Amino acid sequence: MLVVMRHGASAADVERVVAIITEMGYAAHPMPGAQRTAVGIVGNDGRIDAGRIEALPSVVRIIHVTQPYKQVSREWRDEPTIVTIAPGVSFGGIEVPIVAGPCSVESEAQIIRAAQIVRAAGGTALRGGAFKPRSSPYSFQGLGIEGLRLLVRAREETGLPIVTEAMDDEGARLIAEYADCIQIGARNMQNYSLLKAVGKLGRPVLLKRGLAATIADLLLSAEYILAEGNSQVILCERGVRTFDPAVRNMFDLTAIPLVHSMSHLPIIADPSHGTGLRDMVTPMARAAVAAGADGILVEMHPEPERALSDGAQSLYPDQFKALMDELRGVATAIGRSVPSAPQA
Ligand code: PEP
Ligand code: MN
Repeated sequence: MLVVMRHGASAADVERVVAIITEMGYAAHPMPGAQRTAVGIVGNDGRIDAGRIEALPSVVRIIHVTQPYKQVSREWRDEPTIVTIAPGVSFGGIEVPIVAGPCSVESEAQIIRAAQIVRAAGGTALRGGAFKPRSSPYSFQGLGIEGLRLLVRAREETGLPIVTEAMDDEGARLIAEYADCIQIGARNMQNYSLLKAVGKLGRPVLLKRGLAATIADLLLSAEYILAEGNSQVILCERGVRTFDPAVRNMFDLTAIPLVHSMSHLPIIADPSHGTGLRDMVTPMARAAVAAGADGILVEMHPEPERALSDGAQSLYPDQFKALMDELRGVATAIGRSVPSAPQA
């Protein structure tokens, strides 16, 4: 339930509403906004006496949030949430940041070279997995904490903030120390204990859509993170399983406007995992920006044929540079912009 208060309601009036909600045994979340002040009520089991709150000074109306995902929904918050992962790098506003880099951190030379290429082409942040969720236990599993150290070296070298995946609570705690944004991968989208753990860490989270997850499933997973008090969540469309072996996954472009209609959280697109094929990445990245994606996550490797994971879907450096130029054009055409890289 959401208590909507008069724009410019006094702090005392807001505090009174919070006090009454707390007294009733529920958690109150005051949300000052540009258009309205609202106080969200969670833990509402349907037996709340709305009349008592409605009668309080400055209360305009009560909205019953109909969706099972409450704090994530548009009903709860109408304005877009802007998630800032580092100074000058924000998702959900006019800008469309580009997060690029290899699937995995493989060596110091590889990740530093990748970061330099990303930066030179105008990318906004660096991606690279240190803990890798591989389908086979015999495939390269990532460099672990050493990979995180190398990412930090690459950030020092280029100024690019780091996005990297956590597979468990311990990894998430480490990543919160080393990186700027914690990625939760498709395979862990419904790992609810991990979602709760990253919610508690209070760091920006990039939550990827599960391999066979509906949009509602994705939003409910995000709700776990918001329910822990962390609203810094970026959603990511990365394709879903399909019957057609022609592509690795079926990239769901509809997810972008759908999420925008259902939620205030930003949604970015990953056309690399979304297609699995290098030559499909650029057209789908362009389409995603045109569809309103709040950012792009893309795999680029200095030498894709030597990649230890996902080489077939990793762009060559020159393809990445061409993509950046094209994405700037697409963003401009719809009144948005690709931000330049943050200061080194
Ligand atoms: C990745 O980003 O490298 C990754 C493993 O993606 P996903 O979780 O979407 O498969
Ligand atoms: Mn990958």
